[in-house]
Amino acid sequence: MLSSRFKNDGKSIYKLNEIQLQAKADIELKIEKEQYKFEEINCSSCGSKSYELLAEKDRYGLKYYTRICKDCGFVYVSPRMTEESYAEFYNNEYRKLYVGENIASEKFYEDQVFRGKRIFQFINSHYELNNKKLDILEVGCGAGGILSVFKENGHNITGIDLGEEYLNYGKEKHKLNLIKTSLKDIDENYKADIIIYSHVFEHILNLEKELNTIKEHLKENGIIYIEVPGIKYVHKTYEMNFLKYLQNAHVYHFSLNSLSRILQKNNFNLVYGDEQIRTIFKLKIDIEDKVFKNEYSTVLEYLTKIEKMRVFNIFRFKKIRWKIKKLFLKLIFK
Ligand SMILES: [Zn+2]
Repeated sequence: MLSSRFKNDGKSIYKLNEIQLQAKADIELKIEKEQYKFEEINCSSCGSKSYELLAEKDRYGLKYYTRICKDCGFVYVSPRMTEESYAEFYNNEYRKLYVGENIASEKFYEDQVFRGKRIFQFINSHYELNNKKLDILEVGCGAGGILSVFKENGHNITGIDLGEEYLNYGKEKHKLNLIKTSLKDIDENYKADIIIYSHVFEHILNLEKELNTIKEHLKENGIIYIEVPGIKYVHKTYEMNFLKYLQNAHVYHFSLNSLSRILQKNNFNLVYGDEQIRTIFKLKIDIEDKVFKNEYSTVLEYLTKIEKMRVFNIFRFKKIRWKIKKLFLKLIFK
């Protein structure tokens, strides 16, 4: 384990509001009653059984076993909840626990729009988006804020999600084309130029199955945009706190290397990507396969390093820095 604070003690690292506390209690009870079942898996990237345990709980204090594969360095969750249990979790507790709200709000939508602008710019710098009318599909679109940016720029948008409440918000309030369905159940003739997965891919249990379905709905020169929280980017996004990064809905933790490896295995090549992780992949056309390195030591070293540095990192935050400054001034000028 990375350190003793990753032990399964049931404690949340965040102060939870009442809605979140209730959702957490509901999940814990369902786990105890075995309504939520767990399954053991091998490394989803290389198939190896050899691993090291990094953590036993997530940021909310829920039981959550994060492993690193010794043979390729992929970080994944096992034992993890089964597909059925996750489906029930998404229907009942997910938004309550993660957003702390029962219903979609304009703030949630505005946050999506903000992210949509960044995604649009990112894709546009690697794949010409202007002066075209493209078919854009977003899987796991929530209220559809990301897609609204593409719509404003003249593209045909389709958003799919299973969370009805958020979908309805985007449909009714913002007149977006959003459908309650999953990718496997979408109209079989539907094909997109761009398929977007923004903070969705790390939730998908069966990646191979998903990538095969993507192939059926991607036009010949189409691309997929995948954005996930990068495991080598925790120092910039989660206040250098790996425990804040761990959340029970995420079953995989990707680096650019591990994501590209899984995609390549399923016939997709990386067009562009960074460790943040924002990536563009294209169906493979006779390009030589890249050989991927075992990242076990580099990922483990990185996580160990940020765990040690975390203590110093709090000084980076203005509030605390200001408080210390004031304290000094007080001592000097008293
Ligand atoms: Zn592996």
